[in-house]
Amino acid sequence: MAFTVAIVGRPNVGKSTIFNRLLEQRKAIVEDIPGVTRDRQYGIADWNGKNFYVIDTGGFVPDTEDVFEREIRKQVRIAMDEASVILFVVDAASGMTDLDDSMADILRRSTKPVFLVVNKVDNNERLLEASEFYSLGFDKVFFISAMSGSGTGDLLDDVTELM
Ligand code: GDP
Ligand code: MG
Repeated sequence: MAFTVAIVGRPNVGKSTIFNRLLEQRKAIVEDIPGVTRDRQYGIADWNGKNFYVIDTGGFVPDTEDVFEREIRKQVRIAMDEASVILFVVDAASGMTDLDDSMADILRRSTKPVFLVVNKVDNNERLLEASEFYSLGFDKVFFISAMSGSGTGDLLDDVTELM
């Protein structure tokens, strides 16, 4: 199977913004894969001549707490099944939440490598605050601003190193 990067995280942390960043070099949304549903988007990224699939999960935003939890679990399951590496995105602007914690609990048991991506690190003040996310216990932590693009190059270097 082709090298695939899955982006997971609770709503509004910036998954889709990161997805678009990763696809910047070569915008290609894949639409003809069987089984593709509206709850996730597939694209092909190109970093220094290395091509790989990217999955943006969680496009579907459920309206009840119950469905919400189930959707998040489904998202993580998809990522674990289909991905070569998982980008677990959290939000430095909002800080850590209970949902981040429960997703981390599941992802720590992943057999696939998980990179913790702390997004919305737009300035140095945010960078200081963002260190709270080390407590989630992941070895690989990246501090990025998907909005400005800062830090995304280092992330892509490490992702493609696994190919
Ligand atoms: P998703 O629900 O996880 O896919 O999150 P989105 O990509 O839709 O982003 C949610 C909101 O966060 C949007 O308003 C984005 O513009 C904003 N956002 C995404 N990345 C950044 C960032 O690096 N810095 C800041 N300040 N906002 C961001
Ligand atoms: Mg999204």
